[in-house]
Amino acid sequence: MPETPTSNCGSCGAQLPQHMLLMSADGPICATCHASSADRASKSVLGDLAGILAVAAVAALIPFFVHVRSVVTVNGAITAYRDWVAILCGAAAAAIAAYGFFKALKGSGGAALLAPLALFGLGAFQLVRGFGLLAG
Ligand SMILES: [Zn+2]
Repeated sequence: MPETPTSNCGSCGAQLPQHMLLMSADGPICATCHASSADRASKSVLGDLAGILAVAAVAALIPFFVHVRSVVTVNGAITAYRDWVAILCGAAAAAIAAYGFFKALKGSGGAALLAPLALFGLGAFQLVRGFGLLAG
């Protein structure tokens, strides 16, 4: 009976027939190690994304509670209105959410794109509010 050529998994060192090993950036690895490394990679992308979106969400929500307004009135009519918190936080939230969107696009995509899109919209909304272009 001819012997099957074997190789060692580069990660856990298990000796397996060569057709059972999968090629990876680190050399041949077994299916178990391949699955766990792919799992780790996708989890870290999602973990990063959740962190990024949490920061964007906080930035987008702060302007609902904190206001630093500068209002210029001439004869009782508002000629210039700025809410600096809304402008700065809105811009930051939109920028962070856009970054998260492209990160999600590279990762799993699909439903993961909705959260950054929603936060981008909320950030843009705060920005518009900050410039006094919306009532309230
Ligand atoms: Zn292995």
